[in-house]
Amino acid sequence: MPVIRVALDVPVHTLFDYVAPDATERDVGARVCVPLGNRRMVGVIVEMAADAATASRRLKNIFCIFRDAPPLPADLLDVLRFCSAYYHHPLGAVVMHALPARLRSPEPMAGDPGAARYRLTAAGRAIDPSVIPARRKIRRQLLAQFQESGVLRRDEARRRSRSAPAALEEFVQLGWIEEFEDGPRNASGEPAESPAGTGSMVAEALPPGLTLTEDQAHAVRSITSAMHDYHPWLLQGVTGSGKTEVYLRLIAHVLHQGRQALVLVPEISLTPQLEAVFRARFPATPLIRLHSGLASGERVRAWLQARQGAARIILGTRLAVFTPMSKLGLIIVDEEHDASFKQQEGLRYSARDTAIFRARHARVPVVLGSATPSLESYRNAADHRYHGLFLRTRANRGASLPAIRCVDLRTVETRDGLSAPLIAALAERLALRQQSLVFINRRGYAPVLRCKSCAWVATCHRCASRLVAHLREKCLRCHHCGHQERFPQACAACGNQDVTLLGHGTQRIEAALAERFPEARILRIDRDSTRRRNAWPSILEDIQAQRVDILVGTQILAKGHDFPHLSLVGILNPDASLFSTDFRASERLFAQLMQVAGRAGRADIPGEVLVQTEFPGHPLYQALRRHDYDALAQELLAERRAAGFPPYVHQALLRAEAPQIATALAFLDRAAAAANPTSRVQVFDPVPAHMARLKGVERAYLLVQAGSRSQLQAFLSAWRERLDALPGRKVRWTLDVDPLEF
Ligand code: ADP
Ligand code: ZN
Ligand code: ZN
Repeated sequence: MPVIRVALDVPVHTLFDYVAPDATERDVGARVCVPLGNRRMVGVIVEMAADAATASRRLKNIFCIFRDAPPLPADLLDVLRFCSAYYHHPLGAVVMHALPARLRSPEPMAGDPGAARYRLTAAGRAIDPSVIPARRKIRRQLLAQFQESGVLRRDEARRRSRSAPAALEEFVQLGWIEEFEDGPRNASGEPAESPAGTGSMVAEALPPGLTLTEDQAHAVRSITSAMHDYHPWLLQGVTGSGKTEVYLRLIAHVLHQGRQALVLVPEISLTPQLEAVFRARFPATPLIRLHSGLASGERVRAWLQARQGAARIILGTRLAVFTPMSKLGLIIVDEEHDASFKQQEGLRYSARDTAIFRARHARVPVVLGSATPSLESYRNAADHRYHGLFLRTRANRGASLPAIRCVDLRTVETRDGLSAPLIAALAERLALRQQSLVFINRRGYAPVLRCKSCAWVATCHRCASRLVAHLREKCLRCHHCGHQERFPQACAACGNQDVTLLGHGTQRIEAALAERFPEARILRIDRDSTRRRNAWPSILEDIQAQRVDILVGTQILAKGHDFPHLSLVGILNPDASLFSTDFRASERLFAQLMQVAGRAGRADIPGEVLVQTEFPGHPLYQALRRHDYDALAQELLAERRAAGFPPYVHQALLRAEAPQIATALAFLDRAAAAANPTSRVQVFDPVPAHMARLKGVERAYLLVQAGSRSQLQAFLSAWRERLDALPGRKVRWTLDVDPLEF
């Protein structure tokens, strides 16, 4: 009887063996339903066990193997095995994390495919049916029918032709139609027709009259000359240098080879914009988006299309790095320095680092793009482990880099957080009908509510953090756990009624600007104002159409967006990060400021940036003024080397959470005692986390570090086994390899 080894989502580092009478080698990677205790669980077959070794054991039988979707391909299983081993997370948990929710359910995919309904999108309306080759008659007719009636049911389409369901899938990938639902969505497994025909619709719309800059051309030439093996490229390009155009040329190359491109971005909010660019350039190429915001039916369908090779461009956030792809040809990681590529819970993986592993395993190039590469990647390029490529000037010939000036807050006063030079500059842009952006990294009205007589400040009872005043909603809110409470009438400590608001947040700045410039149209953009689903497209449209004069926003605004009418950026009080205890704070601050500053002057209007600071002489601001990331990166790297910080050492945290901090620390003490450090691995003392209390749970950690990755990994493997055996009642612990947060 064949015996299979199954990865199940349970917190132990073992596989589970079952007898599977009808299993064959071809089922490796398939989902399977098995008994565990008295539960039914879904797992994935990761290998066939040799009969001899297991014959004597009494193994249970499986319930069934699901054959409603193709199995996970072997190369993806290897990527998942790597993640499990490197991040010391159970393989079953890693595998199930990578699967769309629909495929994790113990029910086979079901639904009445006939009832699915599709409607025409704006993109579909704009398509001339004659772009479809005449020999693909059914597709032409279907598109024409959609353009006439707007909506079509799947079974109606099918009555026309047996190939209609495949055509509908194809139109969905092209963005011409979308499925919509009143009830639950269905997901059909394999398409009725081979998707092989889809490739013939790959087409490309070259932008008229765009010639690559010399730097762009060099980058494209270098990368495309070595497409058939693993090469890691670091594409360092100043904001507006045209990294996207380089990506587009590389993707075109891959599409011509009949292969697929995987493009990872840090934020969901960046996908619509990039998607629009890709669709405009490759109007007839199947593209899918994969991110956590998708409905589950949509996600599983996209996943299957990638698996089958039908989808050619896969655009997604972190999780998309686990998309199965049969013809992977290229991976792009845009804004590679962004911390959101690292997952901060459960499987604490870095999608960027996993992308590197995946590219090497698949023997395809991987391109990391950024204006301010992470110091890890920067050093890899400096040491020639990555190939460095540079885009040093803005691509658009009219545009130059913005002039950056510091407003010295030691000599210039502010009112409501705004200095006179900034007010003057804003007034000037208003008169010129140009847009301005005021950047402040704090949403809400004011960060702190404080008692004037006893200095009490309002704090969250569940977290070690201060509550932020939101004036419009008349509430105090915790930005870590979401806790919300009414404005207190008096001080909670002494009863004094004189409580005041200290500091500035987006709402307060918005109010101050409104008072100052009553005629200006002001738009606040932060997590509060964009929470509404689909708020982004209309916000971006308002900005593009110049229905806004002054934008007030947090870092949400900083990322990637292109605002052609924006010529002034004011940055309020970024100094706190200069003196943070987090050794990555400077690197992050610079990346953020460079990105915000980069919003100014992207078209033909020269841009200006004003930074309000008490430390205008600080090397970070000096480098910013010269747009010189290299100067700063080298200085920071020298500091890191001297202090023994990453990337010169490799770190891992053992994180522990418990109801009482003493319980967490005691567990970490036992863990430290159980460690068997060699001279090459340092084990530090347990300490409370930076946010020592979060959502009512106390948190502490223990740092270990080593000079090399392999030493650290060897240590962690041995240590983890001992940790598994430690008594740890009421303690939840995890390992965090290459931690970004402390
Ligand atoms: P980045 O992502 O590097 O910040 P983008 O890719 O957004 O920069 O490009 C900035 C602008 O420059 C875009 O409007 C783009 O269309 C334009 N652009 C890119 N390459 C060229 C080129 N070779 N010639 C003229 N304009 C270009
Ligand atoms: Zn008080
Ligand atoms: Zn809280």
